[in-house]
Amino acid sequence: MSINTAPMTAHGAATYLVPGIDAEGAFPVPTDLLIGDAWVAGAGGARIDILNPATGGVLTSVADATVADGMAALDAAQAAAAAWAATPPRARAVILQRCFHAIVEHADWLAQLIALENGKALPDARGEVLYAAEFFRWYAEEAVRINGDIAIAPAGGNRIMVQYQPIGISLLITPWNFPAAMATRKIAPALAAGCTCILKPAEETPLTALAIGEILRQAGVPAGVVNIVNTSDPAALCSAILRDRRTRKLSFTGSTEVGRILLREASHNVINSSMELGGNAPFLVLDDADLDAAIDGAMIAKMRNAGEACTAANRFYVQQGIYPAFVEKLVEKMGALALGAGTDAATQCGAMINRAAIDKIETLVNDAVAKGARVRLGGKTPDGEGFFYPPSVLADVPLDADLLREEIFGPVAAVMAFTDIEDAVRMANDTEFGLAAYVYTENMKLGLQLAERLEYGMVALNRGLVSDPAAPFGGVKQSGLGREGAHHGLLEFTEAKYIAVNW
Ligand code: NAD
Repeated sequence: MSINTAPMTAHGAATYLVPGIDAEGAFPVPTDLLIGDAWVAGAGGARIDILNPATGGVLTSVADATVADGMAALDAAQAAAAAWAATPPRARAVILQRCFHAIVEHADWLAQLIALENGKALPDARGEVLYAAEFFRWYAEEAVRINGDIAIAPAGGNRIMVQYQPIGISLLITPWNFPAAMATRKIAPALAAGCTCILKPAEETPLTALAIGEILRQAGVPAGVVNIVNTSDPAALCSAILRDRRTRKLSFTGSTEVGRILLREASHNVINSSMELGGNAPFLVLDDADLDAAIDGAMIAKMRNAGEACTAANRFYVQQGIYPAFVEKLVEKMGALALGAGTDAATQCGAMINRAAIDKIETLVNDAVAKGARVRLGGKTPDGEGFFYPPSVLADVPLDADLLREEIFGPVAAVMAFTDIEDAVRMANDTEFGLAAYVYTENMKLGLQLAERLEYGMVALNRGLVSDPAAPFGGVKQSGLGREGAHHGLLEFTEAKYIAVNW
C-alpha cells in the first residue's frame, strides 16, 4: 500500500489558491481530474467556469471530463479494487482516521472555499467541514466491525454463514448544497467497506471535492481508490459508467427528478442503488410547545444553509393557540439575520447557488401571495450583484400554494395555523416526499405517537437538526432508497454472501 505525502499540485496540474485566508497549511486546490495516481487535464481539454454566487463573477475553472475520462477513472478504480478490498480492515481504518484528522486540520480554509463556491455563510461552511470530517472518524470505527452471522438451519444439519463483502466499484454522485459532507458521507463508508470509487461532484461546486481529494491522497488513500471527475455532461458520463459491467454500486444524492433518471440508467445492469433525494419537511408546533425552543429549532431547520438543505423545514403547521406568538417571534428572529457574502464574517444568511434558484423562489413566493399568503418579512429579491434572497416569512399560506408541494430551497418560511392535530398529521403526510419532519410539543407521549405516524424516514422531536454520522439518514416514499450514516450506511456498500456449510 503506497502512502503519498507530497502535495501533487507540484506536478504541474492546474490549481486554485483560495483567496482571503491566512490559515496555515493551505495548499493550492487542484482543478483537474483525479484519475488513479494523477491529476490530469482530461481528454477534451475543455474547462468549466466556477462562479462565486455572492458576485456572479468567475472564481476559476475546472477540467471538464469527457466520457473517455470517466472510463479512465473506472479503469483506475478497477486497477485498485482487489488490493483495497484485501487491505485489512484495521489498515483501512487507520487511513480513514488520518483523513478525519487531515480534514479537521484544514477546516478553516476549506470553509472559506465552500463559502466562496457555494455562497453559504462561514459558520454554516465551517459546520459542514467538521460534519464532513466526522464521517471519516465514524467509518474508521465501523470499518473493523463488519461482522457476519452464523446460524444452524432450522431443519438442522447445515450451518448458515453470512459474510459481508465489499460490493465493488461505486459511482458516487453528489449535489452542490453540501459539497464536502455529501461527498464524505459516501466516500468514507465505501472505503471502510473495501470499495474503490468514482466521485462525480456537482458542476457548481467541484472545488471542495477536489480539495478533499488531495487531502485524502496526502492522508494515504492509495492511488485509484478515490477518483474524481467533474463534467458539464453528467448524463453521458454517468450513463457510460453505469452501463459498464465493472460498476456495482450507485450512490446518489440530489433531486428526485434526477434520481428517477439514474434509477433507469442503473436498471440496465441491475446496479445496487442508494438514493438520497428531495424533501418537503413539515414542522409541527403544538399549543403546549416551549415557544423559545420551537423558534430556536425553526431557525436551524429553516435557516441552516439559508434553506438550501434537503431537510429544510418547508411547511410550518402551528396550532392556533401558539400561532400568533410563533409568527411574531419568527419574523423577529429571521428579520435580524444579516444577509451577505458567505465569506464576510458578519453574514448569517449567504447567497443562493445561482440565478435559477432565485427565479424558483420568486415564482413560489409570488404564487403563494397571489393565492392569499401574507408577506410578514422579505418576499422581494434585492437589487445588486450576486444571487441573494432575503430571509422571508409568509403567514396564512393557503393550502393550494405551490410552495407547500415543492421544495423552496431558500430562506422562506411558509407558516399556517391548524386547530385539530389530526388535520396537521394529514397535511404533513400529504406529499410524495418523506425525508425529515419536525415536531415540537412538551407532551412526549403525544410527540412519540406523532413521530410514529409521520411518514418520514427521520423525525426530529423538539430538535431542529437530525443530521449525525452515527444516525441512519434517509427518506421514505420519493425521498429515497437506503440510508447513509450509522452502520446502515456501511452495509449499503456491501453484499451479504451466504455460505451453506456442512461440517
Ligand atoms: P440535482 O439532482 O440537479 O444534481 C445532483 C447531481 O446529479 C449533480 O452532481 C448533477 O451533476 C448530477 N446530475 C444531474 N443530471 C444528471 C444525469 N442525467 N445523470 C447523472 N447525474 C446527473 O440536484 P442539486 O440541484 O445539485 O441538489 C439539490 C437537490 O438535492 C434537492 O432536491 C435536495 O433536496 C437534494 N438533496 C438531498 C439530500 C438527501 O440526503 N436526501 C441531501 C442534499 C440534497
